[in-house]
Amino acid sequence: TIAYLNGEFVPLEQARISPLDRGFLFGDGIYEVIPSYQGKMVGFNQHMARFANGLAAIEIDFSIDKDEWRTLVQRLIDDNRETLGDNIGVYLHISRGADTRRFHAYPEGVTPTVFGFAFALSAPVKADRSIHPGASVSLAEDLRWERCHIKSTALLGNVMHFQQSVKEGNAETILYNHQHEITEASSSNVFIIKNGEAFTPPLDNQLLPGITRMLVIECLAMAGIPLTEKVITVDELLAADEVWITSSGKEMLPIVSVGGQQISNGKVGPVWEQVFTIYSEQKFVL
Ligand code: PLP
Repeated sequence: TIAYLNGEFVPLEQARISPLDRGFLFGDGIYEVIPSYQGKMVGFNQHMARFANGLAAIEIDFSIDKDEWRTLVQRLIDDNRETLGDNIGVYLHISRGADTRRFHAYPEGVTPTVFGFAFALSAPVKADRSIHPGASVSLAEDLRWERCHIKSTALLGNVMHFQQSVKEGNAETILYNHQHEITEASSSNVFIIKNGEAFTPPLDNQLLPGITRMLVIECLAMAGIPLTEKVITVDELLAADEVWITSSGKEMLPIVSVGGQQISNGKVGPVWEQVFTIYSEQKFVL
């Protein structure tokens, strides 16, 4: 496949960075993943806005020209479609760059490393609850850091939480804080439905402001379903009528079991089908 590295398009296997890159040594960088289907991107503007916010948060001085990046991302999609198929995720990464000093402080005068590559996404599922079996997730205390709103490349905490779900044969791990309040999942956001209303945890430093979360909130409005951003406790999660997790790769995944406990009747719910139908139609235009 064709990748992008520091201004050039190169075959992925020929892309080389310094082992002194602080992205490698410190996880000192920001990333994005933009999904695309049939060559069309989802949420490009929103992803670029979050990318810029992340760079500002960690003081990497790099300005993003949205039009240039749109062209770059579109090329990674178009040039890799023959190899990867119609469902492609584009990973974008800016790390602080290579520095010989092995010193924690942000170095002066280093050039950020800019990297992008394309990978195959799974095909979107049909918005039909009669054929979707629903997924199971693990449940764990959130043991990551207190800056989860930054889409940092330092993902070890997330990786360890995700690995628990792999060991338990589940699709993800939903996380709760010390107060037994749901934060998010290891690589996705969480929604619940209760008595016809939708709830999702409010944005703060405990969770990533997911782009899919943002798009789903717009779809809930289109569906006329009230949405409240509020604290959700573990007990409320387990007592929900429906649980969904959202991310660029998973879109809206309906959850029928959490930490070994069945949600509602253990079947995918009607609100998921209603909202995911809208999402599937609207995702390219939102
Ligand atoms: N939360 C975390 C920790 C994530 O890593 C991700 C995405 O990978 C999400 C939420 C969902 O964000 P998005 O919808 O922008 O993909």
